[in-house]
Amino acid sequence: MLYGAIEAGGTKFVCAVGNKEGKIVDKVTIPTLDPDQTIQQVDLFFKKYTLSSLGIGSFGPIELNEKKETYGEILNSPKILWKNFNVYQAFKEKYNIPLFLDTDVNASALGEYHWGAAKDSESCLYITVGTGIGAGYVKNGVTLKGMTHPEMGHIYVPRYSQDTFEGCCPYHKGCLEGLASGTAIAARYGIKGNELKDKHEVWELEAHYLAQAIVNYLLILSPEKIILGGGVMKQDILFPLIRKEVSKLLQNYITIESMDEYIVQPQLNDQQGILGALALCV
Ligand code: ZN
Repeated sequence: MLYGAIEAGGTKFVCAVGNKEGKIVDKVTIPTLDPDQTIQQVDLFFKKYTLSSLGIGSFGPIELNEKKETYGEILNSPKILWKNFNVYQAFKEKYNIPLFLDTDVNASALGEYHWGAAKDSESCLYITVGTGIGAGYVKNGVTLKGMTHPEMGHIYVPRYSQDTFEGCCPYHKGCLEGLASGTAIAARYGIKGNELKDKHEVWELEAHYLAQAIVNYLLILSPEKIILGGGVMKQDILFPLIRKEVSKLLQNYITIESMDEYIVQPQLNDQQGILGALALCV
């Protein structure tokens, strides 16, 4: 039995066909153009297969409240061509098979939960720190959704007293994403993070903000595993700095046996999003 998976991103769509063990048998990457052109390309790939169902992990914000008529619609997206486009409807009309829709970060969390860093845990939080910041949460195989989907990248964290950067979130300026995303690093220092590799103070500040957010998520959601992915987290120096800062902020209030095994890297080699979309089907 074969399942279809789409990791729908603002710059690229990854499409895959796989089985319920998480083995991908075919995959293609398509640049994100306007909705019609993109879906045409996606269809060229999928029409070679007979699929049992299709899972989509989508960029957002996207309407995920099934009670609403606009279920599946892209909301306040800076991708103007996609704003108000209904991803769910578009694929539902094309393929008369069950369709499962979630956010890209919930899908990544689900991928790691089934086949990656959290495969021996009952719950996990997956945080991506890239051009933006987002997080997905899974408990017993079910992702967290509510009135809308969580937007954990936009929480407010106390600002470091000597940080004069106002923040770059177009909605909130100095929310977590506005202070600590890859976009924020580039705006604060005038060059991209990967060119600041040896500047220790850059990563100290980054760890300071991320650790505060992680402690807040941890205290609210109590995940068994916290996984940090995304482009910014490729700076290995961040992991020890974040673990140290999280320990400091927790003040032993919650006992974590091994911080090294608690706050970890993804195990799916940047396939967590597409594998998570596949996991939505199984
Ligand atoms: Zn924000």
